[in-house]
Amino acid sequence: MDIYERLSSIAGKENVLRDEPMSRHTTFRTGGPAEYLVSPDMDGLPGVIAFCREQEIPLTVIGNGSNLLVGDKGISGVVVEIGRSMGEICLEGDKITAQAGALLSAVSAKAAAEGLTGLEFASGIPGSVGGAVIMNAGAYGGEMKDTLVAATVLTKEGEIVRLPAEELDLSYRHSNLPEKESIVLEAEFVLTEGDVDQIAATLADLKQKRTSKQPLEYPSAGSTFKRPEGHFAGKLIEDAGLKGYTVGGAQVSEKHCGFVSNKGGATSADVLELIRHIQKTVLEQFGVQLETEVRLLGEF
Ligand SMILES: Cc1cc2nc3c(=O)[nH]c(=O)nc-3n(C[C@H](O)[C@H](O)[C@H](O)COP(=O)(O)OP(=O)(O)OC[C@H]3O[C@@H](n4cnc5c(N)ncnc54)[C@H](O)[C@@H]3O)c2cc1C
Repeated sequence: MDIYERLSSIAGKENVLRDEPMSRHTTFRTGGPAEYLVSPDMDGLPGVIAFCREQEIPLTVIGNGSNLLVGDKGISGVVVEIGRSMGEICLEGDKITAQAGALLSAVSAKAAAEGLTGLEFASGIPGSVGGAVIMNAGAYGGEMKDTLVAATVLTKEGEIVRLPAEELDLSYRHSNLPEKESIVLEAEFVLTEGDVDQIAATLADLKQKRTSKQPLEYPSAGSTFKRPEGHFAGKLIEDAGLKGYTVGGAQVSEKHCGFVSNKGGATSADVLELIRHIQKTVLEQFGVQLETEVRLLGEF
């Protein structure tokens, strides 16, 4: 049996694609083909991972692809996409348990509808719960760390373990799960009872802030760079005279210099060349090394 057939028998044929363009699975809308792209459900996932590890097939895990730049030559081996088929959200009192493929915006909306406060900040972050735990995603003064109490992960050794949030080493856009090669299966949040109208007003306010300040009309991966200590990446880039600077179809957003936008037809090579140019210019002019928040995957 070849790899495609084995993956199909574990995850279901309808959940396995060959030579699938990653531009369909990233918010940047760039990136070459994944050799195999598998979108398993909770039951199929451990088997897919075990198969890849046994056969020493390169394995890449993605969520909603909203923080990724995938090389134009694509990704060899198996890309496991944790998405809709792992998207359950359960509510129990003030606790929400969400599977890793649930969209963060859906979890935030569920909390809001139940009058639970604490996840308003997450409403406009276009990631999955798993990706948000990995990144300790945050916005407008909130971050995952504030309400996440535990994550259930599949370890490198193939065990399913529930880890209290304190063991995830959550800090600015960081958790220790990638270095352990652990995969997030589920996350538990404990929220606080609040006022439904007040929560709705906060959500509306944050939405207005995002749409007025961020170039949401173009594909991107959000903030390209992490916030350097004592500075704002967008301000440094603007002060360096790079607003609107373009490489191919990739542009430093004219609305928010912290974003690189795909203005149409950008390749990942365009985006990467622009990123390198920004880093070099900002380092030369201000002595600040910008570090990418966007994760680079595959071959460029
Ligand atoms: C318009 C826009 C606005 C944004 N605004 C914000 C913001 O305000 N704040 C913020 O923090 N981010 C923001 N982002 C970035 C992005 O949405 C977050 O980083 C998000 O948490 C990524 O989640 P994802 O599911 O898309 O992960 P992906 O981009 O698919 O993956 C990100 C990383 O997590 C890993 N990963 C994903 N899922 C799993 C899993 N289940 N188990 C193990 N590893 C996994 C991947 O291997 C990769 O290393 C924005 C992006 C866009 C496009």
